[in-house]
Amino acid sequence: MSEEEAYQTVLATLKKEAIYPYTEDEMQVVKSIESCINCGLCIQHCPVVAAVGLDRFSGPRSIAVELSRSPPEYWTTADVVYLCTGCGTCREVCPKDVDIPEIVNLIRARIFKHRPDLMPKQLHTADAIIVEHGLAFVPWEDPEEKAESRDMRLERLGLRYIPDQVVKGADVLFYPGCQAEERAQEVKESAKIILNHFKVKFTLLEELNCCGLPATLLGDDKTALELALKLKKKVKDLGVKMLVTTCAGCTSNLARIAERDAWGIPVYHMLEYLVEEIGIAKLSSAFKQSTEEEPLRVTLHDPCHLIKHTSRITMDYAGQILGLIPGVEVTQSYAHDSCCGGGGLVSYHAGDVARAVMKENLAAIEETGATRVVTPCPLCTAQLEDSLFRQGSSVEVDDMTVFIAQRLPQEG
Ligand code: SF4
Ligand code: SF4
Repeated sequence: MSEEEAYQTVLATLKKEAIYPYTEDEMQVVKSIESCINCGLCIQHCPVVAAVGLDRFSGPRSIAVELSRSPPEYWTTADVVYLCTGCGTCREVCPKDVDIPEIVNLIRARIFKHRPDLMPKQLHTADAIIVEHGLAFVPWEDPEEKAESRDMRLERLGLRYIPDQVVKGADVLFYPGCQAEERAQEVKESAKIILNHFKVKFTLLEELNCCGLPATLLGDDKTALELALKLKKKVKDLGVKMLVTTCAGCTSNLARIAERDAWGIPVYHMLEYLVEEIGIAKLSSAFKQSTEEEPLRVTLHDPCHLIKHTSRITMDYAGQILGLIPGVEVTQSYAHDSCCGGGGLVSYHAGDVARAVMKENLAAIEETGATRVVTPCPLCTAQLEDSLFRQGSSVEVDDMTVFIAQRLPQEG
């Protein structure tokens, strides 16, 4: 066999084993793992390890160690990477700045491309939906049914409907995200009520498309990039000055892609927008007086995508805003910044793991004596609602955008 033939045989074998060379960018991520000193801090703080044990989820260190031992054999961590919620706790505590969530995304992307057989089948279904509809969920087929569902939700919550508006040259683009557009419609409507109350010149998109975060988490980087570029074009066409969203995942992902793809406008979570652009002075005189004799005891849940992927300041703002609302008493749970278990698409294929992660939160919430848990993310809200309901808890859950809108005078 000639040298060339031998080389081609080796290449063919590597390809058969799904061993592909890393790109330069990927290599930077893989190299960062080499700084791991095996201290185990990430394992001690990982909520999935705490919830299900090392037998089920061998933890962030194992991802780092396995990959650094044999970078080409990324798929040896397949059983681990799909159970990571991407909460970002390991990155926060790591003394060597090893970015496990980024490594997880890198491995998922390689599996998606080269070993899709190792991806949970529910994630293949999720990807097919995103590719077909440009949204994380199958959209409503009948617009009338969608409107009926929206109106029922609004009636139950005592909120009014403001028709959607698409305006060129508005100051703010309100981006509801897939969950608030297709499922938790009350969150989208509440954001419109808030912006309208403060007389903000805002617009919606003519047609919403997903920000691409779920596609990134699936490892479908091509679709994620297509969605991001589509969105950039829509934003540019509208000529807005800033983007405001109510979803924690959309906030962190939109801020990342807006910077990467040079959108030239800032991205705010609604809470940041309220405090930084509307201002505490206006906010403090905006809320209705409470008619209740007893204060409403509320506790906050901090979405990982805000505190660990964007900025902790957003949740300081959440506390400040709640403190301005008459009749609301805020109490902090010891697990306020623990992952809800719903991140990283874990709930799509391993609901038991997602619920186990949530368990510690539930006990902490109950312990506060609060009757309501409030969180500024419709996905965390859904995860909290599901878990509290299954546990038979009497604690109610509100998305914070809805909670705020309900406490503003309902004009019009
Ligand atoms: S991102 Fe969160 S769930 Fe994933 S390994 Fe790190 S601590 Fe664990
Ligand atoms: S915390 Fe960082 S350095 Fe320590 S084991 Fe985990 S990845 Fe390695």
